[in-house]
Amino acid sequence: MKPHFATDVLICGAGAAGLTLAIELARRGVSFRLIEKMKTPFAGSRGKGIQPRTQEIFEDLGILDKVVASGGTYPHQRAYRDDGSYLDSDMADDIEPTPAEPYHLPLMLPQFLTEQIMRERLNELGHCVEFGCELIGLEQDSSGVTARVIGPSGEEIFQAGYLVGADGGRSLVRKTIGVDFPGKTLGVRAIVADVVLTGLDRDAWHQFNNGDMQRMLAICPLAGTDLFQIQAPIPPDAPADLSGEGLTALAAARTGRTDIIVHSVYWASDYQMNARLAERYRVGRVFLVGDAAHVHPPTGGQGLNTSVQDAYNLGWKLAAALKGARQDLLDSYEAERRPVAEAVLGLSTRLLEAQKEGGMRRGREVHQLDIGYPDSPLSKELPERKGGIRAGDRAPDAPVRRAAGQPSRLFQLFQGPHWTLLVHEAGFDTIRPRPGLHIHHIGSSGDVIDAWGHVRDAYGLAPGECVLIRPDGYVGAILDADQTAKLAIYLTRMGVSELEETSK
Ligand SMILES: Cc1cc2nc3c(=O)[nH]c(=O)nc-3n(C[C@H](O)[C@H](O)[C@H](O)COP(=O)(O)OP(=O)(O)OC[C@H]3O[C@@H](n4cnc5c(N)ncnc54)[C@H](O)[C@@H]3O)c2cc1C
Repeated sequence: MKPHFATDVLICGAGAAGLTLAIELARRGVSFRLIEKMKTPFAGSRGKGIQPRTQEIFEDLGILDKVVASGGTYPHQRAYRDDGSYLDSDMADDIEPTPAEPYHLPLMLPQFLTEQIMRERLNELGHCVEFGCELIGLEQDSSGVTARVIGPSGEEIFQAGYLVGADGGRSLVRKTIGVDFPGKTLGVRAIVADVVLTGLDRDAWHQFNNGDMQRMLAICPLAGTDLFQIQAPIPPDAPADLSGEGLTALAAARTGRTDIIVHSVYWASDYQMNARLAERYRVGRVFLVGDAAHVHPPTGGQGLNTSVQDAYNLGWKLAAALKGARQDLLDSYEAERRPVAEAVLGLSTRLLEAQKEGGMRRGREVHQLDIGYPDSPLSKELPERKGGIRAGDRAPDAPVRRAAGQPSRLFQLFQGPHWTLLVHEAGFDTIRPRPGLHIHHIGSSGDVIDAWGHVRDAYGLAPGECVLIRPDGYVGAILDADQTAKLAIYLTRMGVSELEETSK
């Protein structure tokens, strides 16, 4: 057995959740290792929908432009009738972006390309995935976690301060720490296959026999590739033929058309739909993120997005705890994220039922822009507010002008691993700068000018009020000007401490 390696965080699994967490830790200078049992990157399209809230997060992580450039928007849905005629419709309501919500359209990018862009970002930050490294066991005590890993050079023991199970729905980490995964199997088995195909245009998501679970077939051009993604429910016990010939025969049987030919299969899988939620997200020094903590049907395109947002919530808290923040900050991860997954389970199961009836339509609820943490122990208002923006809400964007004359946006001020204090007009002069806190004064004589009134519209702050934005883009606290002492205590609790003055 090889010698021990010490690291602050061991991340098990390099899917979307593990990669997001790695980027978050890397940009905060935390030491970590990211292990992945597969020898090469995952090659399938699975989670192809990137929701507006995740686009905001990708902007913060510095990958949104690459994601947009590599992918595209969803095409029309083309619902075929039995006589071969069809009706085109938009998959979602066409809502224009607003100053507060700059992204409104779900993007399409196959999961393997999203993960590739994330790995490239991780490389820019000086880290990489350790492929071919499988976690096979773990133990923990009050000082850390000991993990057994089999890698290219045999079995190794890793010592880590924390371990994060980002190891998918069958999570070994979840099973090893004894966390139950209650829920149900939804009685739907389906195939998903990325294929090269002829016979259909690339300008529509082709849908046959909507609402008929024996005959349904959906064929979607995958943005950013020459591939189509085939999705279809299949009988519970019959073997699935995922070869090109098998998929061509399936298309012919379900459409009556012989012109749809699958020439090659890039990746394919068959799976059972489940709705399950881990009873706990944390046991001691071990955490669960992503599909390791929740699984649900793909309807509504929520899984990858929820997984990314779990990791985005946990990353800054782990970094803060390692730098001295109060340990109970880490408990807020489960308190904030488990109710979100509970709601997603309900939403995706409802959409699956609607799909079975042939009437699924994705509304604002799938965009994830209304997710917030109003009941979180981290959300503070002094005094309590009666309306407008509340602690725990997603912090809205707003176009502004910098005092030096350049146009900017609040999201540009928020971008990075820091907290942001927006002080409206006057007040809070006594809060001293701290590492990890950016302070901006908004007003006619501030460093940021609300030239078009968008900050006023989105935040509705009174003169002297201030709003503290968390590193993950949620409102942590809203305070009156006379609450400077409370603000200082709050920040210290979050690990954002004053510099110690040194005198020689
Ligand atoms: C057909 C289909 C369509 C979908 N469509 C969407 C969609 O449109 N939008 C959306 O948001 N989501 C969608 N999803 C869901 C999405 O794919 C998942 O939610 C997402 O992959 C979860 O990411 P993750 O990182 O948590 O887990 P995973 O992607 O499962 O990654 C876990 C990783 O951990 C690794 N691992 C496992 N065990 C170990 C171990 N012991 N040691 C080391 N590594 C290990 C695995 O190899 C894997 O790479 C869809 C899923 C399916 C099946």
